[in-house]
Amino acid sequence: MNIRPKFIMLFLAIGLLPVVVVGVIAYSAMSAALRNSTVDQLSSTAVKQEQRITNLLQTKQEEVVKFANRYDLQLTLRSYVAQPNKANRDALAAILQSKKTEASSIESLQLTDTSGNIIASSAGTQVAIQAPETNDGIAVRKDPQDGFTKLYITTGVSINRQRAATVMAVFRTDDFTAVVQDYTGLGNTGETVVASKDGISLFPLRFDTDAAVKTNVSSLDMFNDQNTSYRELLDYRNESVIVVSHKLETADWAVATKIDTSEAYASIITLRNGLAAILTAVIVVIIIVTLFFTRLLTRPIIQLSEASKRIGRGDFMTRVPVTRRDEIGALANSINTMEQNLNEMVGSIESQRQRLQVILDSTTEGIFAIDDRGKIIIANSAATRLTQMKPEILVGQSMHDLFTWRQNQQSFLVDYDVGEVKVYRNLQYTDKKGIERYVKLIVAPVSDKVKRGSTRAIVTIHDETSSHELENMKTDFVSMAAHELRTPLTAVRGYLEVALYKNEHDAHEDVIPFVRQALKNVDVLGGLINNLLDVTRIEKGTLLLTMEKVDLAADVVQAVEALQFTAADKQLTLRYDGPKKGCFVVADQLALHEVTTNLLSNAVKYTREKGTIVVTLTQADNVYEVAVKDTGIGIPETALSHLFRKFYRVHGGLATSSSGTGLGLYIAKSILKRHNGTIRVESKEGVGSTFTFALPIFTQQLLDEMHPQSDEEPGVNIRRKRGWLTKNITR
Ligand code: ADP
Repeated sequence: MNIRPKFIMLFLAIGLLPVVVVGVIAYSAMSAALRNSTVDQLSSTAVKQEQRITNLLQTKQEEVVKFANRYDLQLTLRSYVAQPNKANRDALAAILQSKKTEASSIESLQLTDTSGNIIASSAGTQVAIQAPETNDGIAVRKDPQDGFTKLYITTGVSINRQRAATVMAVFRTDDFTAVVQDYTGLGNTGETVVASKDGISLFPLRFDTDAAVKTNVSSLDMFNDQNTSYRELLDYRNESVIVVSHKLETADWAVATKIDTSEAYASIITLRNGLAAILTAVIVVIIIVTLFFTRLLTRPIIQLSEASKRIGRGDFMTRVPVTRRDEIGALANSINTMEQNLNEMVGSIESQRQRLQVILDSTTEGIFAIDDRGKIIIANSAATRLTQMKPEILVGQSMHDLFTWRQNQQSFLVDYDVGEVKVYRNLQYTDKKGIERYVKLIVAPVSDKVKRGSTRAIVTIHDETSSHELENMKTDFVSMAAHELRTPLTAVRGYLEVALYKNEHDAHEDVIPFVRQALKNVDVLGGLINNLLDVTRIEKGTLLLTMEKVDLAADVVQAVEALQFTAADKQLTLRYDGPKKGCFVVADQLALHEVTTNLLSNAVKYTREKGTIVVTLTQADNVYEVAVKDTGIGIPETALSHLFRKFYRVHGGLATSSSGTGLGLYIAKSILKRHNGTIRVESKEGVGSTFTFALPIFTQQLLDEMHPQSDEEPGVNIRRKRGWLTKNITR
C-alpha cells in the first residue's frame, strides 16, 4: 500500500473518531433529556387531571351527601317509615324529582330502603332505575339501557342517627369530559383517558370520542404497581405512542395521558438532523483538511521515492525539488548530491569503458570475456574478424559452439574454467569461410568466486595462421633443399670413395688424407641433411615409425660400443652399467637407436679429455630408464629449459666450438614423445650433465595400442630411409 492512503486513513481515524463519538454521546444525552421532559409533561398533565377529577367527584359526592342530609328528605322519609303509604312515597319522589331538576348534571335519583327495595325515584315512585349493586361510594358503569357510561354515587339517609334508606344519584359524565378536555395541555396528538379498573374507558378522549372506545385501555396497563409509569405502545391507529398513567386516589380509576411518539420526538428528530448536518459538515472539513495535509506531508516523500526509482533505472539527470528545510529537505539534497556523484561516476566509468574498448579493438588478438556458463559477454573487433560475426550476435553465444578446436588434426577440448593462466598452442579450427586457421589460445581466469553472469575468464585468441603458413613454407623449403642436396652429395661421396680406393691402390698416398677428410665432411653434411629431413618430417607429421618389441639393453650396449673409438680418441672413459639384454620396450628400432646415439655422442662431444661417461639402465615402476652421465662442461641453469627446442645451442666455450645444429635433442624428444616416453636433464655447469630418458616396459597390450603403422600409409618410414645417419656417429 502506498504511503498516501495510509496517511489519509490515519488522519481520518484521528480526526473522525472523536467527532463521531462526541456526536453519538451528545445525541443520546439530548435524546434522553428530551424524552424525560416529554414524560414529565405527560406525567404532570396526568396528575393535574387526576386532581381535577378528584375535586369534581368530591363535589358530586358532597352534593349527594348534602341532599341525603336535607331536612325535608329526612322528615318525609320519617313519615314514610311511620306510614309507608303512597302519599309519603309520592312526596319522596317529588323531592327526588325536584333535586334532579335543580342539578342539571344529575340524570336520575333513587331511594331504596335498607333491604334494597325501591322507595321512590326521580322518574316516579314505581320506576326503578337500573343500577348496579354498589355500596356507598362512587361507581362507574355502562347503563345497559342506553349503553352510556354513567357515574353512580350512593350514600345513606339517616333518621335519628339510624340508617333508614339509601339514596343513589346517577350523573352524566359531560362534566368530566369538559374537565379532561380543558386540561390536557398536550400537543396535537396529546390525549387523556380516564379508565376504571375493570377496563371500561370512562371519558372520551380529547379529540375523538370514538377513539376512547377503540382504544384498548386495558393494554395500557394503567393499574400497575407504579403510581406513574411510562411506556411506548402502539395505539388503535397502530401508531407508536408514549403513555404515562396515574392512579386516582378517590376512586379505583386511573388517568392516562399519551402523545404520538413522532410528535414527542419531533424535537429529537430535529436535533438529530441538526447534529447530522453539523457532523457531516465537520466530517467534510476534516476530510478536506486531511487530504490537504496528507498531500503536503506525502508529496516530498513520494517525490523522493520516485527519484530513487529513477536513479535505480539509471536516470541521473532529473533533480528532486528541494522545497523544505526539514529532514525531508536534507534528504532531497542528499539524493541530489548522490545523483550528481553517480552521474559523474557513471560518466567516468563510461569514458573508461570506451577507452578500454578502443584498446581492446585496436589489438590484433581476438579477446572474449566469458561468463560462468561459457557464454560470451564481451568481444572485441578482432574477435568479430576471427568469427566473422557481429559483436551483438557474438554476445550470449557459447565459446564451444563457435570454435571446434583441433590439435594435430585431433579434436581438442579447451577448458575455459581454469584456475590459472593457460596457454594452448597450435590449435586449429575451420572458420566460417572454410579456411583452416592456426591459433594460440590464452585462457586467463578473472575470479574464482564466480557469481552468476559475472566474468569468469578472458580468452585471447592469437591468429597464427600466417606465421604458421610461413613456417610451413620454411619447412617445405628446408625439406626440398635437403632432398635436393642429398642426391649430389651421395654422388660426391661415391666419387670420393672411388678416388680413395683408387689412390690407396695406386699409391698416390699424399692425396689420401685429403680424400679421407673430404669423405668425413661429406658424412657430416649428410648427417645434417638427414637431421633437417627428420625435423621437417616430424613437423609435417610424416615421420612413420614401425613399432615392435625391441630390446633396449641390447640397443644401449650396441650404441656404447659404436662410440668407444670416438671416446678413446678423446681419452674418455665410456662405461655401461646395466643388463646386457632382456629389457624389452615397444619402439621403432632405428628411431630408438637414434635417441641413444644422440645422447651418447653429445656426452662424448661436450666432455673434455680424460673425462668419464657412465651409461646406466634401470627399472623404475613400469618404465626402463637409461641415464647418460658425463663429467663434461655442464649446462647453465638458464639454458636448461630451452635445451629441447629446435636449433637451440648453448653459447660459449666448448659448446660453441663444437660443431652441431641444435637439432639432436629436439629430434630425440620428438621421437620419445611418439613412444610415450619422457626425457629429462640434470646438469651443473663445469661439473657434468645427466640426460635420462624413460620408456614404458613392453606389454602386448601396449604394442597393440601403439598399432604398428603399415608401410602402405603415406609418409616416410624411418626404415626406408637410406643411410639414416646419426649426426655424430660419423663425426
Ligand atoms: P648439437 O648438435 O648442438 O649437439 P643438440 O640438440 O644435441 O644439438 O644439443 C643442444 C645443445 O645442448 C648443445 O649445443 C649443447 O650446448 C648442449 N648439450 C647437449 N648435450 C650436452 C652435454 N652432455 N653436456 C653439455 N652440453 C650439452
